[in-house]
Amino acid sequence: MQLVDHPLVHDALAILRDKRTAPDEFRRVATRISVLLAAEALRDVPVAAGAVETPLGPADARRMASGVVVVPVLRAGLGMLDAVLALVPSARVGYIGLQRDERTAVASQYYSKLPGRLDESHVLMIDPMLATGGSAVAALDHLTQAGARDIRMICIVAAPEGVEVVRKHHPGVRIYTPAIDRQLDDHKYIVPGLGDFGDRLYGTL
Ligand code: URA
Repeated sequence: MQLVDHPLVHDALAILRDKRTAPDEFRRVATRISVLLAAEALRDVPVAAGAVETPLGPADARRMASGVVVVPVLRAGLGMLDAVLALVPSARVGYIGLQRDERTAVASQYYSKLPGRLDESHVLMIDPMLATGGSAVAALDHLTQAGARDIRMICIVAAPEGVEVVRKHHPGVRIYTPAIDRQLDDHKYIVPGLGDFGDRLYGTL
């Protein structure tokens, strides 16, 4: 569990939490905060030392040594995808579609398309709201069954329950988030949270 405590992250989070923020601004700010979270989550990926020719001569250079796979959990995770691809243009993308039963809050998978060689890749799962942890664990189960070994996830708001469930089922997965909120409500929404991320992103309220 890595608490990302950066002023720019908190500034963006305040805008996302604000109920007056409209979908167009919500999308822009979701991208902004995701860039910062992804940069933090990928801070330790290995680099290979090399060289590059500047207009004034040779310089040492370090380049990413292995591949990144980014996996948005549909639908809300899509709001963080452009940010990661802007940061890591060479990243390959896998998709996992999970639907939460509004009554039971249990997640079931309706779609999956993952790239190959997951075992050689740094996998960055993106899912903005870590609430009960049910969908995160289902997605992580799927990724590990598909061969992923190095998995980290970024989320924008987490609930203590979700963090605990992920920690219990996938102790090797590092979670990067700026906020662990108070609790879940009766509908399994994070309180105070920011509401339904997908609805606020796409204006489906
Ligand atoms: N998903 C959301 O979008 N918001 C929550 O608070 C919990 C799950």
